[in-house]
Amino acid sequence: MSELTSKTIAELRDGFRAGEFSAREIADSFNAAVEAGRALNAWTVETPELAVAAADAADQARAAHDLKPLSGIPIGIKDLFCTEGVDSTTASNILRGFKPTYESTVSGNLKRAGAGMLGKLNMDEFAMGSSNETSAYGPVISPWRRSDGGNAALTPGGSSGGSAAAIAARMAPGVTGTDTGGSIRQPAAFVGISGIKPTYGRCSRWGIVAFASSLDQAGPMAKDVRDCAILLENMCGFDPKDATSLDIPVPNWEVGLSSDLNGKRVGIPKEYRIDGVPAEINALWDQGIAWLKDAGAEIVEISLPHTKYALPTYYIIAPAEASSNLARYDGVRYGFRDIPQGGNLDAMYAATRDEGFGAEVKRRIMIGTYVLSAGFYDAYFTQAQKVRTLIKRDFAEAFTMCDLILTPTAPSAAFGLGEKMSDPLAMYLNDVFAVPASLAGLPAMSVPGGLDGQGLPLGLHLIGKELDEQTVLNAGLAIEERAGFTHRAEKWW
Ligand code: GLN
Repeated sequence: MSELTSKTIAELRDGFRAGEFSAREIADSFNAAVEAGRALNAWTVETPELAVAAADAADQARAAHDLKPLSGIPIGIKDLFCTEGVDSTTASNILRGFKPTYESTVSGNLKRAGAGMLGKLNMDEFAMGSSNETSAYGPVISPWRRSDGGNAALTPGGSSGGSAAAIAARMAPGVTGTDTGGSIRQPAAFVGISGIKPTYGRCSRWGIVAFASSLDQAGPMAKDVRDCAILLENMCGFDPKDATSLDIPVPNWEVGLSSDLNGKRVGIPKEYRIDGVPAEINALWDQGIAWLKDAGAEIVEISLPHTKYALPTYYIIAPAEASSNLARYDGVRYGFRDIPQGGNLDAMYAATRDEGFGAEVKRRIMIGTYVLSAGFYDAYFTQAQKVRTLIKRDFAEAFTMCDLILTPTAPSAAFGLGEKMSDPLAMYLNDVFAVPASLAGLPAMSVPGGLDGQGLPLGLHLIGKELDEQTVLNAGLAIEERAGFTHRAEKWW
């Protein structure tokens, strides 16, 4: 039955409907894969019983001819999503043992569409990180290894590192991720899978633990582009409980898939040819340009002049919003509490936050508090907001000349565990291609393009116009068909 775990969501759905296998067989296969993959540390909680219950319901629904879009499909949920009655910790000690009494809108949408839950996925604490090493549960190990023999453990990227590893190691056919500044796209690129961040406001943020509210977006990660389309259309939708949720219809992206790009113009931003990017990444980028041309697209050079300010802007705005959002974890309302002997209320706040938060989260809270403080607010926060507007305008201007933008997803392939942990700036640099689309709220996707000289996956990054996920998905499909990326991590776990 193990070949079931190699199938895409579309193949599982269609095979299940055709009676080739039962939903219970699918769930059993993936539950077994989760158990066999524990060495990767991809999950914070395993919920095999929930996957089985949903599968049994799907088998009954099939018998009763009452199937839903995701009947029979088990998925993994990033631990940033609140799931009713199941630990939701955002990989932080401060939320250890927190069992929400409610379900996030996005995970609820997926479950209402018939999906079962295999478990909660490990991640960087509060989604702050690019390597999954800030997790209170320890790092996720990438299923990939360098081909030069070194057995050094690699990061699957972050913050959705558990999500990425779960797909790449065939422990789940589809997962949720979240992306504030690249956390779906960079890990997808590192492990050779696909992932899309939709337009800001497409997915409700209700019930997703807030990191930086003006940037946070949920999105799917899966083996291929079609699966991303299937998951995304079952995640999105208007939600009156999120004031930034868009009250617009959700397109049927799967039906709209087409790799014919005739009439589409693809912009190549000249400023993205940055120093220090390995030649193989630039070569893959050129290859991507050739693939899109082959699919019928016209290639145009565009300019995004404020791109060079995107990272510093992000690392002011995101920590500012985080410092405010994380003020609620005080030992009173959620999860963990530490009351020092003889201590008063202030001592409880301090001890709880000191014990409960990890180093990166504390760094972000301090940066955020600093840039929001009375003396520095205008110099940092207001200035960053102004630059964010300029970055958005760059995109608006560029999209008068093109329908889509192609760049690499990340400036390197996956790096080794521990390699960048002592240098936060080097870590932050990993998001250099991903962050501009986040600041502008635009849909963006990573699809695998090829392998580097070490045999590690590299991703290509597509940024679309607001609400034009379809063109992003279609271009992703065009690349997928031409790249023929079928490589898999050799099983060692
Ligand atoms: N790596 C980025 C950060 O650390 C982005 C994280 C994310 O998208 N959640 O903030």
